[in-house]
Amino acid sequence: MKCAPFEYVRPSSVDDVLTALAEAGGEGRILAGGQSLVPVMALRLARPAVLVDVNRVDGLATLERGGRDVHVGALVRHAALAEQTAHPLLAEAAAHIGHAAIRSRGTAGGSIAHADPAAELPVVAVATGATVTVAGPRGDRRIAAEDLFTGPLTTTLDPGEMVTGIDFPVPARWGFAEFTRRHGDFALVTVVVAEVDAQVRIAVGGVGPVPVRAHAAEDTLHAEAVGDAVGPSGDLHGTADFRRGVAVEMARRALASAGM
Ligand SMILES: Cc1cc2nc3c(=O)[nH]c(=O)nc-3n(C[C@H](O)[C@H](O)[C@H](O)COP(=O)(O)OP(=O)(O)OC[C@H]3O[C@@H](n4cnc5c(N)ncnc54)[C@H](O)[C@@H]3O)c2cc1C
Repeated sequence: MKCAPFEYVRPSSVDDVLTALAEAGGEGRILAGGQSLVPVMALRLARPAVLVDVNRVDGLATLERGGRDVHVGALVRHAALAEQTAHPLLAEAAAHIGHAAIRSRGTAGGSIAHADPAAELPVVAVATGATVTVAGPRGDRRIAAEDLFTGPLTTTLDPGEMVTGIDFPVPARWGFAEFTRRHGDFALVTVVVAEVDAQVRIAVGGVGPVPVRAHAAEDTLHAEAVGDAVGPSGDLHGTADFRRGVAVEMARRALASAGM
């Protein structure tokens, strides 16, 4: 199947992106790396009237350390995240995203906005207490990652808004573990442990509609408590009990690699 017809625009500033989205009146979609949007358009599960290509917008492909955070521009590719050394946890997580071709096109902003519950970057964002910077018709706003994700592929972003970057705190200690059936597949379960501002935070992906904080396990640092904190449902990849068991094992590995 091929995409339904659409109008294509390629603005070079955030302001012009917002204007294009406003003119599309809710029928516009941002195109970043296209690694999630184009497949669903090809299946006609998404039929935007206007595609707003943000790849030529200036200043959004930079990554810089500022204080305790690393600011990742929305257009930073997964491959660049995997290669940088300013935020080792992000590098580890990005290296686990899909295959090389996906990582060379897919963007940090796209992954966060797409909000796939099995994606790596949203789990890192929740685990580190990241802040998402958003530009919109009413100005800029900053959203805590935990307040952004509301369900599978669903966020608190308005259709006229654009993610411009994400501030990821650099953890003093961290651990990352994920389980996939085959190399390059979306993870069945991802566990991220991050010590930020002397507080340990644990987030789990693939066990619910959004990345889940395992608050009880943050207090005890017991992997078993992660199993109690999550309520996965069964699917064709495995039963709920199987997923819970995998979450406990990934938590054990992530805690161990964090030295906790
Ligand atoms: C075969 C395959 C395997 C994959 N495996 C993984 C995996 O293991 N882990 C993983 O995390 N991901 C995986 N992905 C998805 C990949 O990471 C995508 O790059 C990512 O989900 C979306 O980023 P993108 O830049 O391609 O966004 P796009 O596909 O361009 O856009 C995705 C959605 O986000 C919106 N959007 C994009 N940028 C912005 C922005 N700046 N502001 C607001 N909205 C925006 C778009 O309008 C669209 O709705 C895989 C994809 C494929 C095709």
